Amino acid sequence: MLRQAVRKIAGSFGHAYFQERARQGGKQTELWHALGEAGFLGVHLPEAYGGGGMGISELTIVCEEVAAAGCPLLLILVSPAICATLIAKFGTEEQKGRFLPPLADGSGKMAFAITEPDAGSNSHQLSTRAERDGEEWRLEGTKYYISGVDEAEQVLVVARTGRDEATGRGRLSLFIVDTDAAGLEATHIPVEIAAPEKQFTLHFDGLRVPADRLLGTEGEGLRQVFAGLNPERLMGAAIGCGIGRYALDKAASYARERSVWGRPIGTHQGLSHPLAAAKVNLEMARLMLEKAAWCYDNDEDAAEAANMAKYAAAEAALEALDQAMQTHGGNGLASEYGLADLWGTARLLRTAPVSREMILNFVAQHSLGLPKSY
Ligand SMILES: Cc1cc2nc3c(=O)[nH]c(=O)nc-3n(C[C@H](O)[C@H](O)[C@H](O)COP(=O)(O)OP(=O)(O)OC[C@H]3O[C@@H](n4cnc5c(N)ncnc54)[C@H](O)[C@@H]3O)c2cc1C
Repeated sequence: MLRQAVRKIAGSFGHAYFQERARQGGKQTELWHALGEAGFLGVHLPEAYGGGGMGISELTIVCEEVAAAGCPLLLILVSPAICATLIAKFGTEEQKGRFLPPLADGSGKMAFAITEPDAGSNSHQLSTRAERDGEEWRLEGTKYYISGVDEAEQVLVVARTGRDEATGRGRLSLFIVDTDAAGLEATHIPVEIAAPEKQFTLHFDGLRVPADRLLGTEGEGLRQVFAGLNPERLMGAAIGCGIGRYALDKAASYARERSVWGRPIGTHQGLSHPLAAAKVNLEMARLMLEKAAWCYDNDEDAAEAANMAKYAAAEAALEALDQAMQTHGGNGLASEYGLADLWGTARLLRTAPVSREMILNFVAQHSLGLPKSY
């Protein structure tokens, strides 16, 4: 029922809406609000704060169905999946009461900032730092590739607040920062992804954050952030699965109808087999996504399955989209057929929110017991 209800809303917008917004520099605001008002963006949040009281499994369904309708929403990864999840888990009563209801009903958005130019995949090397100054913290540093800062009222920032004497690594903490705060400068980073969401470099220059904006425990930020990164990976996987379904649906219907040598092109195994193989890989990715979301919701260790689901879904999405474009011949590149413009978003999933290589590192080390390579 959830799938059907989300499909109905997202289907009434469709890929043409996504394309138009991406081209004109607009946002998918109406779709976001429609999902929020129906309770789907907060489906995983506690009912006491305006949520649906369900789990991350249900949020992956929302995320997948929206992408399958041709309108992938990258900010689902960030605002409901990471930020709202972390506030629900680690926030004070005041923080939960203030920030969760707008995130749940879609009237508010929160961006998430962990990546830095000089740290990248290595979060232990983060150099953005926050220093306590009376009743405030002062933030200095730079983040990049931060999505949706122009749409969000706040950004959840991961910053260094100390150093672990035993390991020499930074002790990290989380801060909820207003995007219009003095001392925060956001610069747009142009990217070749045809999506309504934009990316930004953020400079924090002595930005003052009130003490009550620290989320969770000082110095425990990295451990806490992992509670939000697995949901983010799952939403990345869900977007990949949705794009894969969208592409294969279009490819199959085109291959059934298009006739070049007197028979539908789908008759030729040169086309049908790669599409069938893409379908197999896509369904395996969806199954791993379900497993990972189940693990997360049932307090099992979800890290391995979430990594595998994200890896499998990114590869399956690219395979399905590439083969769908091939099936369409020249039309595969035409704007009208609504395939090639999703390439950037699908390709992004191989790199973010966690790269293919870091997932393979994880699986090699933790699933296979191989020595750490870095
Ligand atoms: C469109 C877009 C949106 C994004 N949105 C956000 C956001 O909202 N918030 C946010 O915080 N970040 C965001 N990111 C950042 C994204 O999460 C990172 O780009 C990604 O995690 C990779 O980090 P990096 O770019 O620093 O690559 P690097 O860490 O510099 O890595 C470069 C390459 O080296 C490989 N590599 C690095 N270390 C190893 C190793 N030990 N072994 C093998 N290979 C390795 C990587 O896999 C990668 O292929 C976004 C990025 C993009 C492109």
